[in-house]
Amino acid sequence: MRMVDLIIKKREKEELTKEEIDFIIEGYTKKEIPDYQMSAFLMAVYFQGMTKEEATNLALAMANSGDVFNLDSINGVKVDKHSTGGVGDKVSIVLGPLMAACGAKVAKMSGRGLGHTGGTLDKLESIKGFNVEMNEQQFIKQVNDIGLALIGQSDNITPADKYIYALRDVTGTVPAIPLIASSIMSKKLASGADVICLDVKTGSGAFLETIDEAKELAQLMVDIGNLANKKMSAIITNMDSPLGNNIGNALEIKEAIDMLKGEGPEDLKVVVYEICKQLLIAAEIATEKNAEELLDEKINNGQAFDKLVEMVEAQGGDKEVILNPELLPKAKNKIPFIAYKSGFIEEMDTEKIGVAAMLLGAGRKTMDDKIDMAVGLEFVNKVGSYVNKDDVICYLHANDKGVDQALEILQDSLKIGKNKKVLKLIEGVIKWVMH
Ligand code: URA
Repeated sequence: MRMVDLIIKKREKEELTKEEIDFIIEGYTKKEIPDYQMSAFLMAVYFQGMTKEEATNLALAMANSGDVFNLDSINGVKVDKHSTGGVGDKVSIVLGPLMAACGAKVAKMSGRGLGHTGGTLDKLESIKGFNVEMNEQQFIKQVNDIGLALIGQSDNITPADKYIYALRDVTGTVPAIPLIASSIMSKKLASGADVICLDVKTGSGAFLETIDEAKELAQLMVDIGNLANKKMSAIITNMDSPLGNNIGNALEIKEAIDMLKGEGPEDLKVVVYEICKQLLIAAEIATEKNAEELLDEKINNGQAFDKLVEMVEAQGGDKEVILNPELLPKAKNKIPFIAYKSGFIEEMDTEKIGVAAMLLGAGRKTMDDKIDMAVGLEFVNKVGSYVNKDDVICYLHANDKGVDQALEILQDSLKIGKNKKVLKLIEGVIKWVMH
């Protein structure tokens, strides 16, 4: 087989076989195929697309390029979720304990934040002592013992995806739906869960801005998972407003704790419940009819909250921080950001809001930046609220960094006007269907 022939085949919109895709991924991972040929191939995919069978073979080939977790020794149904990256998205931290309390096994590998989006691992590390690193055996033991573990990805997971993503970044081939879908799904397939629900974000601050693109991506990822024998579902959620009220690591842990005590913001609850529902149904733990009741019960009887405490203890964290969130890192200053005129909040540019939090130190510009766990934003008014001039829209929890710049960006991120806009939070659900 010659790489040039496969580039031409894709350029002519022909379908590649599994063997051909394996050849490309193996060759590129071993550095036998040079960057210039791989770049040409990626551009051909960008313009000509891929069938769902090709995208599945690409995801599987990338998954098999490194460590593949075998979770067979975990008793029970292993569930996982993935979000394509949001602002204020602390869903995994609520969903993990809640699903474990319902009897599912949550063996979840999460990521770190970059740019305007946060990462679950960073948020968890705002709990004193919390350790996100463990080997496969420890991971499996913890999930068997308490029903959940939230850890970082092993260094050798999907190396092909790491190399290809870096090349896509500099060749204008990131926003190609088959490449995004196979990249995300390669990591999910390597992580070993049986039942997966994807949260595909749309709107400002999301990876794909239109609903149609987000739906296409969600459907392709569901198809890939199904073809790889996973029970897949997806929801498409709107990011035209941050999720929940708090953005920033310790602030988001506080909000996750509130939600597990039944006191969280409604939009966060809607998203958490919808993903949990899809997972519970596919895992055959609950039905469409009684899933919500089960979730309410696990929150109201304190079992979901207790699971968070158990996980924090099991991973070396200080459980007192969960029992008393006042012990979480706290910023020195709490500065109000106020409305410049009276009216309804019509628009929030979520990406800019994420950047404002990053400038305070809550996120990273580059992977080497250090994070300040205490800082971030706490919203008291969001899209749809009526505010009078000088009412507080959000508080900046700040230390010494970035306040003026953050205030400037926040000012620019907001549109106040005459129209009361009601956000449709869930734009679509692709339910699991028996195959
Ligand atoms: N996230 C990924 O992991 N891969 C992509 O290609 C895009 C977003």
